[in-house]
Amino acid sequence: MIDLISDTVTRPTPAMRRVMAEAEVGDEQLGEDPSVNRLQEMVAELTGKEAALFLPSGTMCNLVGIKVHTQPGDRIIIERTAHPVTSEAGGPGLVCGVLTYLVDGVRGVFTAEQVEAAADPGDGVHTPPTTLVCIENTHNRGGGKIWPIETLQAVCATAHRLGLKVHMDGARLLNAVVATGLPAATWCRSVDTVWIDLSKGLGCPVGAVLAGDDETMRLARRYKQMFGGAMRQAGILAAAGIYALQHHVERLAEDHANARLLAEGLAETPGIGLDPAEVETNIVFFDVQNTGMTAAAFTEALLAEGVRMGAVGRYRVRAVTHLDVTRQDIERAIQAVRRVVLGRR
Ligand SMILES: *Cc1c(COP(=O)(O)O)cnc(C)c1O
Repeated sequence: MIDLISDTVTRPTPAMRRVMAEAEVGDEQLGEDPSVNRLQEMVAELTGKEAALFLPSGTMCNLVGIKVHTQPGDRIIIERTAHPVTSEAGGPGLVCGVLTYLVDGVRGVFTAEQVEAAADPGDGVHTPPTTLVCIENTHNRGGGKIWPIETLQAVCATAHRLGLKVHMDGARLLNAVVATGLPAATWCRSVDTVWIDLSKGLGCPVGAVLAGDDETMRLARRYKQMFGGAMRQAGILAAAGIYALQHHVERLAEDHANARLLAEGLAETPGIGLDPAEVETNIVFFDVQNTGMTAAAFTEALLAEGVRMGAVGRYRVRAVTHLDVTRQDIERAIQAVRRVVLGRR
């Protein structure tokens, strides 16, 4: 099967498994795992932050990232389709006790003016205090959209002028880095906390790393402990992350080229709606309404042809390229889509 459901389906390569098997380990919860410590140093350096913290998942990075900047009852500004809003099971509400002020972005990107309007402090009595802005870069539901750096910097400048912190969900930040050539530290300079996922396009089995200043990361470590995210000989997992940062970053360009190839093939298929120019990284969204099928019917028929994609709305389908799909796989996936669509006509 050609699996385009997500970049989370990647399996650790034989070379990655070897470094995992041979990893130096210690008690991570005591701060004594050398591989975890090394990974944290690497991510702190990569993002240009003072410190970093290895966590079991991206979801926990968002939870801890929101928690360190807020008090229960605060309001956070976040895009309507951002991952913590759509896919984190209500964690920010339950665990952090925050309210969300949802802004509508364009493919996930919103403006400094929207932040300014949303952060209106009101009379200081009735209005919940707004303390945090969350940015997602690249934006998943926005189709792997890269924030224009000027927009990101303007949002951060406005947030900081208003006394708000900024947390960046960088699950796929390295996709933005590779696609633009702008270093990670440039993307991270104006945000207060940021994290990267190791278990998406980087191909690791588990893990994500949150970064920020020393004081914030000390607090983050306390919440990691509280939420049950502290581990023991986690160096086995961190070794995969170190390997991925050394070997799997530049190659994200192949995923982007494959996504573009897929988008162009899909755009030439009758009944399928998408603009290939909107495909900037490794995520491709398209519309199947004019094929006469729902997204669910389309993806089911496609699965029978040996290709898995995700139905993410009545007529919307998502395909994600990654380490475990080749250019030939993409060519075969396009042919499979044509068989499904044309077979229906
Ligand atoms: C996958 C994802 C997450 C959550 O990461 P997990 O490691 O799956 O918990 C958060 N934000 C975005 C944008 C994601 O794509």
